[in-house]
Amino acid sequence: LIRLEQVTKRFGDHTVLDHLDFSVDAGKHVTLIGPSGSGKTTILRLLMTLLKPDEGTITVDGEQLFPAPEKQVREVRKKIGMVFQQFNLFPNMTVLRNITEAPVTVLGMSKDAAEERARELLELVGLTDHLDKHPAQLSGGQQQRVAIARALAMRPQVLLLDEVTSALDPELVAGVLDVLRDIARSTDITMLCVTHEMNFARDISDQVLMFDSGRVIESGPPEKIFSSRSCCTAPSRRPTSW
Ligand code: ATP
Repeated sequence: LIRLEQVTKRFGDHTVLDHLDFSVDAGKHVTLIGPSGSGKTTILRLLMTLLKPDEGTITVDGEQLFPAPEKQVREVRKKIGMVFQQFNLFPNMTVLRNITEAPVTVLGMSKDAAEERARELLELVGLTDHLDKHPAQLSGGQQQRVAIARALAMRPQVLLLDEVTSALDPELVAGVLDVLRDIARSTDITMLCVTHEMNFARDISDQVLMFDSGRVIESGPPEKIFSSRSCCTAPSRRPTSW
């Protein structure tokens, strides 16, 4: 479903991604791990078309993202949902409206259909009782669960998750990860996930890609990447600058 071929991305003379190749099959859950600054977020931003590669090609569902006509890029973008570290909810809208806004304005769904779908999603993320609240009335964990529901409301084929628990107080992390485990188990959505939560990565991943300096230094199923010796809490080959 997703294919990166020989993708290079530079910022000035800093090469962040260096002729990177990888692909993600439909329905699979792939986790990107690696030290800070190794280029993980840059990959997600390329897929979201927030950045352009300097070299190489990116294809989603058979359609090329770069170079491509603007209309094609917009269509491909609709297939991709993203959840950020900072939840980025609309502060002046209720939880329900946060979720229905894009399906109504971008996909042209009727308000009733969008609300019905939003209620289903709020049940999935355990927030049915909060639909009339505003983001400021929710905990960080609850806001992040709304952000997940909002991304899913667009019925994306791919969900990109960028360190979605990093900004949360420790006691709120488990609730968000449990919701994502549920989604991984109960839907056929393709997930590409940047995380420092190694137990979570082990639980949901079909494949783990370990990055360092813009290259994949190790990849494989989680049981290969996380050694039993380290009790599955850390990769077996931890780069020094982790
Ligand atoms: P972290 O785990 O800390 O989020 P990461 O692996 O996601 O790190 P990226 O955010 O992809 O790393 O950043 C990779 C490198 O590219 C970093 O050195 C960063 O400073 C640099 N970088 C990212 N975005 C830009 C930008 N817009 N302009 C210049 N440099 C950038």
